[in-house]
Amino acid sequence: MRYPETKPPVFTLTAGPVDAYPEVLRALGTTVLYDYDPAFQAFFEDLTLKAQEALGCDLPPLILQGEPVLALEAAAASLIAKEDVVLNLASGVYGKGFGYWAARYARKVEEIEVPYDTAIDPEQVRDFLSSHPEVRIVCVCNHDTPSGTLNDIDAIGAVVAEAGALLIVDAVSSWGGMPTSPDSSQAGIYVTGPNKCLGCPPALSLVAVSEAAWAKIEANPDAPFASMLSFTDWKNAWKKTEPFPFTPSVAELNGLSAALDRYLDEGPEQVWARHALTARICREGIKAMGLELWAASEDIASPTATAVKMPTGIDAGVVLGEARARYGVSMSAGRAETLGKLIRIGHMGPTAQPGYALLAVGAMGGALKALGADVDVAAGLAAAQATWDAEIDA
Ligand SMILES: *Cc1c(COP(=O)(O)O)cnc(C)c1O
Repeated sequence: MRYPETKPPVFTLTAGPVDAYPEVLRALGTTVLYDYDPAFQAFFEDLTLKAQEALGCDLPPLILQGEPVLALEAAAASLIAKEDVVLNLASGVYGKGFGYWAARYARKVEEIEVPYDTAIDPEQVRDFLSSHPEVRIVCVCNHDTPSGTLNDIDAIGAVVAEAGALLIVDAVSSWGGMPTSPDSSQAGIYVTGPNKCLGCPPALSLVAVSEAAWAKIEANPDAPFASMLSFTDWKNAWKKTEPFPFTPSVAELNGLSAALDRYLDEGPEQVWARHALTARICREGIKAMGLELWAASEDIASPTATAVKMPTGIDAGVVLGEARARYGVSMSAGRAETLGKLIRIGHMGPTAQPGYALLAVGAMGGALKALGADVDVAAGLAAAQATWDAEIDA
């Protein structure tokens, strides 16, 4: 028996979008209120404050009405003024991509780019900033998802703060799945979204903006207003007495509310531990099977996605198709520079469960074996199980 491509896969273990939590799916199906109904305006205010609690930011965050690429582009448009020199940090496809947005608005974009299986060295950022005091804004991606690798945004944030510059963080695929926050990274703008570790469908962005970043945005004559890219339009919309710039995505906001309740009820530290354990089990299984992690060093491997190097001569796309056809398991390909070189297993929201790591190891190993690769699937599964058991018995 094989699973046909024309039917949905049985298990979506991708690096985003991910399966939504059942609570979220139920909430998506609840009443769609009129946005100016007082009950909805009060709901939106409560929701924003709940998101603030979850994010741990000083000011109520923005909830923008599009998936996080909207917020990332809007961050560049809002914060970066014509006279600004920006330093973009690129250790992967998303980090690199932010530089193209920055270039639309800045006088000049400098860049530190490192190989996409490594991370940015905060000391290199410090040296760069001390020799380039004209840099006002630094941009970094926390978890560059197409590589499954992490940048230490807290250490980078400390260096950026010391230099008196503002930091823009893309934490879309890390926040909610590991200890990372606007506060610990001292971010001016910290962008995330409900569609990765919070287990919602793609539709909204969450953005924490610091006092200093708001002051810079308000001083930027070119910051968008009356625009989908505007931060300013939404600044006060969270208050139940203030108007919305346009109709918010009511159903998706219901979903976000359920996801935040779930996150806060389970407890962020429990949630992060679940993501970390799932990723560790997965990595142990992958290595024991005879495969290599994409990350040059395991300490930068993300707890929210595991990127696995494909053996030479093996086409990653064919492996993905085989895993889906044999086991009904959908995983992610690489993107741009990493496309064809690796396969990514997501551990995000509802799929950050140890059992899914075993399933992913079995599906990837079984598919590779069926395609003639030299992998020891039994050793991989045994190592994954042993890692899980050791944690249970600890
Ligand atoms: C998912 C993701 C985004 C949102 O972008 P899409 O390409 O539209 O999914 C942005 N940044 C990172 C790091 C992401 O993982």
